[in-house]
Amino acid sequence: MTRKIFLSITLISVAAVAMTIALITGLLSRSYRTHAKGQLRDEGIIIASGVEMNGGKFLDSTDFGDLRVTWISSGGRVIFDTDKDPTAMDSHSQREEVKEAFSSGEGSAVRYSDTIRTTSLNYAKKLSDGSVIRVSTDHFSFINGLASVLQPLMMILAAAALLGLLAAITVSKRIVKPINSIDLDRPDISGSYRELSPLLTKLSAQNKRAGRQVEELRRSREQFSLITESMSEGLIIAGSKGNILACNSGASRLLGAEPPADGASIFTLNSSEPFRRCIQDAMGGKRSELILSTEGCDRQIIASPSSGVTGVTGIVVFIIDVTERQQLETLRREFTSNVSHELKTPLTTIYGISDMLANGIVRQEDIERFGGEIRSEAQRMISLINDIVSLSKLDEDSVPRQDEEVDLYDLAQQVLSRLRSNADGKQLTLSLTGEHVKFFGNKTVLDEIIMNLCDNAVKYNVSGGAVEVKISHIPTKARITVSDTGTGIPPGDLDRIFERFYRVDKSRSRKIGGTGLGLSIVKHGVSYLGGAVRAESVPGKGSVFTVELPTLPRKK
Ligand code: ADP
Repeated sequence: MTRKIFLSITLISVAAVAMTIALITGLLSRSYRTHAKGQLRDEGIIIASGVEMNGGKFLDSTDFGDLRVTWISSGGRVIFDTDKDPTAMDSHSQREEVKEAFSSGEGSAVRYSDTIRTTSLNYAKKLSDGSVIRVSTDHFSFINGLASVLQPLMMILAAAALLGLLAAITVSKRIVKPINSIDLDRPDISGSYRELSPLLTKLSAQNKRAGRQVEELRRSREQFSLITESMSEGLIIAGSKGNILACNSGASRLLGAEPPADGASIFTLNSSEPFRRCIQDAMGGKRSELILSTEGCDRQIIASPSSGVTGVTGIVVFIIDVTERQQLETLRREFTSNVSHELKTPLTTIYGISDMLANGIVRQEDIERFGGEIRSEAQRMISLINDIVSLSKLDEDSVPRQDEEVDLYDLAQQVLSRLRSNADGKQLTLSLTGEHVKFFGNKTVLDEIIMNLCDNAVKYNVSGGAVEVKISHIPTKARITVSDTGTGIPPGDLDRIFERFYRVDKSRSRKIGGTGLGLSIVKHGVSYLGGAVRAESVPGKGSVFTVELPTLPRKK
């Protein structure tokens, strides 16, 4: 802008000076010529009157200087000429000024000669005898005259241009300074040109509006990140080209990646082929889902396209930790298949025997034995179904609260008496020690816990062994300890015996009526009551199961 103003001022000043010179030159040139013409006429009249009075003598005796004087007869013949021999000159009757003088008494003409490249001013005056006196002089135009003063003139012009230049620099700087000093963030109308005030007012209003919008944007971004950061799920919002617009820490954590840089590609978070395909599907406008399994972790990726009028404008990706869900799903599948298997075995036996009975191919003396087998297989199925029902109730947390005060010592005594006949069959010693500890909880669950532990202690005991139940009270907890002198459990199996259908010796467990669900019921029951169970065992010597239940009222 400074340059433009500077150039304009310089050009205007130089043009103004040049125009002034041209104008003055033109005006002066005109008046110079008028003046010269007038002077020539005056001289012509004087010379004409001199000739009128003294004839040719006057012409011969007078020095006319630069002035050319010609005397032309009424016929046009040159009688006298100061510059040339009259006899060598042609007729002048057709000269413009002469012709005019002949007809009207005087005449004048300005003539340019190509041969001598000069302009001459001519004046002719008719004498009383009909002859004509013509005076002429070379006309040096004012412009020609200017040539002599060209150098000083050019110097004046240069000085004027220089002055114009300096003025242009100063003026342009001064004009631009208030504009340059405008603070565009806080335009101050008072300190600037009045002409700029509508612009500055608008700018100020726009600044305020933009400021408000930026503040709103910042606040909503903050709110957005506050909400998304508190999510345990991962959330990524990306543009249609896969450039990340927003990504919460959950997303990078679940994908095991570093937090991405602003605008980074979504594939920097995970470059695996399934992830890439899932994201590309979403970018193509198709909702896509995927389970990404890495190092024992399962992540569900849900990528949804966000579509506008122009097509897919971006994608939203949810990442959910489904490790537990997947594990539960696997457990459920295993459980279903185990249950089917466990039910199928007794049913096959029952079907086989009943088929033989129906076909009358069983001998009379075998009927009782086969009947016994049907009963024991049916018994096994009933136990299994009972265990499944107990377990699923605990699983679904659908055990009714029905909490009551239970004397654990008394409950253990009842359990042991129920097992007496089984114990007697193996000549086992059952003993109960400890104190009458009162526990507030669901009696059925407590019964199942003690029953399963004691039943195992009897089942997996050796003939003539012992089972000891101890009820004790430790700070804030009730403790139930069931010890036996049975087969014991190998250390490698100790961690797994609480799993559903896990048995150390499958065929032995089946033979003695085990369902493989007893300890699972114990574990779930204990956890339902807010406690913990642990097992210690020395193979060949026996096992100790310890249950500890909190006696403080539970929050749930
Ligand atoms: P089961 O119905 O087969 O007894 P459990 O879940 O009660 O199923 O027990 C799982 C497995 O743990 C049993 O099959 C058995 O191998 C082992 N076990 C449980 N209690 C004892 C114990 N007191 N002594 C030895 N082994 C035991």
